[in-house]
Amino acid sequence: MAMRDVPGQHRAKMLLQRAIRSGKVAHAYLFAGPPGSGKRAMAEALAQTLLCERQGDDACGECLSCRKVKHGNHPDWHTIVPDGAAVKIEQIRELQRDLSYRNAGAGRKVYRIEGAETMTVQAANSLLKFLEEPPSPVVAILIAPSAQSLLPTILSRTQLIPFVPGNPEEMEQALVAEGKPPLLARTAVHLAAGLEASRELVEQNWFAETRNVVIQLGKEMFSQFPGVLLTAQQQVFKTELSNYADTILQMFALWFRDMIYAMTGRHQKMVFSDQADWIAKHAWSRSIDAWVHAMETALTAARRIKAHVQPQLAMEQFLVNAREG
Ligand SMILES: [Zn+2]
Repeated sequence: MAMRDVPGQHRAKMLLQRAIRSGKVAHAYLFAGPPGSGKRAMAEALAQTLLCERQGDDACGECLSCRKVKHGNHPDWHTIVPDGAAVKIEQIRELQRDLSYRNAGAGRKVYRIEGAETMTVQAANSLLKFLEEPPSPVVAILIAPSAQSLLPTILSRTQLIPFVPGNPEEMEQALVAEGKPPLLARTAVHLAAGLEASRELVEQNWFAETRNVVIQLGKEMFSQFPGVLLTAQQQVFKTELSNYADTILQMFALWFRDMIYAMTGRHQKMVFSDQADWIAKHAWSRSIDAWVHAMETALTAARRIKAHVQPQLAMEQFLVNAREG
């Protein structure tokens, strides 16, 4: 994939291409940003560009070198992924051996370390020496969710390239153009940080189910209490959807936001646009402040599940708490 084909991330592309054009490519980059925002794809695109036989500011995608990077068999392009939960020192040592051995060929080498924030202290120290005395010309690309997640010593030796969450409208258009169902595409782009992650969501079998459950619970929660608790138990916690309670809660925040969109005349922004009639009829039953409160309650419950609170407990407390507002 060439850099021009990585969706969004205009600033990252600009920073990298400017460095390439001015011959000031850094020895080490840190690609930092939320999961699914295109960091891995951009790393491959940068490697392809740096190794491309045509030596432009983007990969040609056609030369032998570009094709080898694409197929994962270019001898000067290496990737390390965490071995289990962490990137370990043996992996860094092996990489160093590989790079110095092959450096005899003199061409440029590029490597990528995914999950750089999981490096053990020993691995980080080993990498540090390597970053200080790179067997030039080597370009390192570290990938992590944020700059803060790396040791300061590593951080100070890399150039930060920030990745931002994708623009929802652009991602939705791209997914619909690929033939994905429009309602699911619109829902997914508000739950994932990037095109790749949104596409993965849409392609999951359970995703459409969670959306249906949110619509059902959303309609019941204010009119059929405490029956809605039973619905949650049967539709969510007695099914495989129980694994996705945090996604359901994040989707609830979008449902409540649609109420506010209905009250403020922004119907075209609705995520649950297939429920626009029901929403228009019921949105005025509460104040905007109350809907904002309900959104916050849903997002708090989703965070609690990520912090390992029992999902059913978090969901039930949400269904109780969101009623007060
Ligand atoms: Zn090429």
